[in-house]
Amino acid sequence: MVEPKYKRILIKLSGEALAGEKGVGIDIQTVQKMAEEIKEVHDLGVQIALVIGGGNLWRGEPAAEAGMDRVQADYTGMLGTVMNALVMADSLQQVGVDTRVQTAIAMQQVAEPYIRGRALRHLEKGRIVIFGAGIGSPYFSTDTTAALRSAEIEADAILMAKNGVDGVYNADPKKDKTAVKFDELTHRDVISKGLRIMDSTASTLSMDNDIDLVVFNMNEPGNIKRVVIGEQIGTTVSNNL
Ligand code: UDP
Repeated sequence: MVEPKYKRILIKLSGEALAGEKGVGIDIQTVQKMAEEIKEVHDLGVQIALVIGGGNLWRGEPAAEAGMDRVQADYTGMLGTVMNALVMADSLQQVGVDTRVQTAIAMQQVAEPYIRGRALRHLEKGRIVIFGAGIGSPYFSTDTTAALRSAEIEADAILMAKNGVDGVYNADPKKDKTAVKFDELTHRDVISKGLRIMDSTASTLSMDNDIDLVVFNMNEPGNIKRVVIGEQIGTTVSNNL
């Protein structure tokens, strides 16, 4: 059996990861495939927490730009992340992985409230924990949620699973053929070069709390496992190279 590089990870999936070809909404088969991949990593004995975005259903900022109150729009977005969390939890349960959803906004009939100690206990018992409803506050993102929760549960790294992008480039590889991929970067580089891996709040939080990130393409089957067993794919972002 391969020895995983990380013992406890937090996987950040964008909401789009659940949408499949359609790009919006939730495609059950896509979620099931993702759950199987996550199970493979879980089978290595790695403790796994998940943060799933909500962009496949709703994003607060564009709704606010279209005239909606920003706070209401963001709460709507947070509820979207809970829908994604519930669907993923169901798929994980169906492939045989015990999973709990914890939400930052209390909804006791639907999920547990976020309680750090309880989340840690679930992880230690081999359960996957999905953190829903972001951090529970408007004006934040699920990238920031990933950085915050990762610090709280002392994860070894955040695995930033990207949709069709295999790492961090010095320019947009979809628009610029000469764009070069970085294997490694510091958080400071990411911030000073204005590289848009995550929003700036999430980047500074990761830098200040010394959180390592691995940015990789989730559309390639098996990639989550590759990162976990220490294969050099994607881009690693940390404070020290
Ligand atoms: N959101 C929020 N606070 C949080 C996390 C999320 O207000 O702590 C809202 C925000 O409106 C955001 C939406 O939820 O646009 C969906 O999250 P995000 O955009 O991070 O999802 P992703 O792009 O990762 O799919």
